[in-house]
Amino acid sequence: MSPPVAALSPTRTVRNDRTLALREFHPFEAFGARFLYMVPSAGIFRLDSTGAAILDALAAGPCEPDALVESLSGEYEIDRILETIHELTEIRAIGDPSAPKEQVPNDLPPADFPLNTMVLNVTNKCNLACTYCYEYGEDKIVDTRYGKQPKFMSEETAEESVDFLLAESKGQQVARLTFFGGETLLNFPVLQKTVAYARRRAQEQGKRVEFSFTTNATLLRPDIIQWLADNQIGVTISIDGPKAVQDGLRVFSNGRGSYDVVLPKIKELLQVHRSRPIGARVTLTQKHLNVLEIFRHLTQEVGFWEVGLAPVTTQDHRDYAITPEGKDEMLRQFEQLAWEWLECALRDEHHGFSNARDTIEEIHKGVSKAYGCGAGLGLMGVATDGNVSLCHRFAGSPEHTLGHVSSGVDRVKQQSFLVDHHIAAKTDCHTCWARPICSGGCYHEAHVRYGDSSHANLHYCTWVRSWTHTCLEIYGALAEKNPKFLERFDA
Ligand code: SF4
Ligand code: SF4
Repeated sequence: MSPPVAALSPTRTVRNDRTLALREFHPFEAFGARFLYMVPSAGIFRLDSTGAAILDALAAGPCEPDALVESLSGEYEIDRILETIHELTEIRAIGDPSAPKEQVPNDLPPADFPLNTMVLNVTNKCNLACTYCYEYGEDKIVDTRYGKQPKFMSEETAEESVDFLLAESKGQQVARLTFFGGETLLNFPVLQKTVAYARRRAQEQGKRVEFSFTTNATLLRPDIIQWLADNQIGVTISIDGPKAVQDGLRVFSNGRGSYDVVLPKIKELLQVHRSRPIGARVTLTQKHLNVLEIFRHLTQEVGFWEVGLAPVTTQDHRDYAITPEGKDEMLRQFEQLAWEWLECALRDEHHGFSNARDTIEEIHKGVSKAYGCGAGLGLMGVATDGNVSLCHRFAGSPEHTLGHVSSGVDRVKQQSFLVDHHIAAKTDCHTCWARPICSGGCYHEAHVRYGDSSHANLHYCTWVRSWTHTCLEIYGALAEKNPKFLERFDA
C-alpha cells in the first residue's frame, strides 16, 4: 500500500535557475500540519516547515531561486531549502510562472471499458406519489405514466439484461446488479427470478454477481425480508426522516403520509436482515432542512447502519427547491456531521454518515475523475423495455438511450456521449481545484437544471468546494492522528 499522505522527502539537490512561482494546488490544514491537495493529480502532500516557508515566500509573488534561498537561509539550512525546492518543483506545486498551466487531460476511456454495475428498472410504476419524484414529479424527463414503455419489466427482458451485464463486464470477476423502480417490490416475482438466473449464469461463467435494491419499504413483508436476508441482497430504503418530514412529501396518491406504514416494516427488516448493512437514502428539500434531526432519527431511533443525504434535484422555482440560504444551512449541518464522523474515526468507531465516508474514501484513493460519475460507462440503467440508458434516472429517455440489452451498446453513440461529458469539454471547471472529485457533477441534475446533461452543475460549485475542503481537513486529521483507520479504504 502506498502511504495515504506523502511527506515531502527530498532525494537530491538540484539548482533551479528559473524564476519560481506557485502553481495549482489547494492548501489545507489539520492539527496544525499543512497539506497540499494537488490538481489535477489528486495527490496529497504534507509540508514540513521548510516547504511551508517556501510556499509562504512565493505567495507574495514569483521569485528568483537565489533570492528565495537567501531570504530563507537565516532560518533553514541551504541544502534543505534547495532539496525542498526541487521536491516542490517535482510535484508541480511550484514552477516557472511562464510555463503553461497544467492541461486538463482529454484522453477517453478504452473502448473495452467494462460495465461494473447495471441498474434494472424492473418497474416504472410506483405506489407512492412523492411530490419531488424525478420520475413522476414536475421535473420528470420520461413519461412513465402515459408513455409507451411497459409498466413492468418482463422476465425475458430481465434475463437478457443479466446476459448483457455478464457479457459487458468482460474480464471482471464480480458484476453488480441493482434493482430499481418505480417501486421495485411491485415487480418482486421478476426480481426473485432474476436473482436466481443471474446466480446460475454467473456461476457457469466463473463469475459472481452482487445484488442490491432500493425500495420505499411500503411493500416489505416477512417473506420478502427473509428472502432478502437469505440472498444477501443489499438494501437501500428511500426515506426522508421522522414522521413530520416523511409525511410532508413522501405520500400515497390520496395524500396520506407513509411513515406509519413503513416504520414497522423497516424495523422488522433491520432485525431480520443481518447479512448486509442496510442504508437509508434521504432526499433533502427546503421544506425540511434539519439534517441533524433527520440523521439522528434514522440512525439512533430507527437503527439504520448508514444514512446518505442528497438535495432534491429540481428547478429553482419549485417551493421545495433548496434556496441559497438553505444550501448554506445544509452545508453547516453536513460539516457538523462530518466532524462527528471524524471523532468516531479517531476512536476506530463507526459513524453512519455515508456522505463523509464516500468523499473521504475518494480522497484516500486519489480519485481524479474525468467524468462526474460512472453513468454511460461503468454503470448503465435499463428501462422496462430493455433499452439501455446512461443510468436509472434516464431509463426510458430516448435522448439518453445507448442501445438495447438484446443488441448491445451503440458504440458510436456511447463515444459521442463520452466526448461531450468529459471534463475536457467542461471549460468552466478547468480552473476549479475541486474538479478531481466533482468533475462537473451529476448528469441528471444538469439535465433538469440546464436542459443539457453535459453542462457542469455550476449552481453547486461553492457548496462542492466547501464540502470537499472540509473532507480534506478531516482526511488530514486522520492521516495525522489515526492513519490506520484509512487502511480500510484500501480493500
Ligand atoms: S461543477 Fe463547479 S465545483 Fe464542480 S468541478 Fe466544475 S467548477 Fe468545480
Ligand atoms: S447521472 Fe446522476 S443520478 Fe445518474 S448515476 Fe450519475 S450521479 Fe447518479
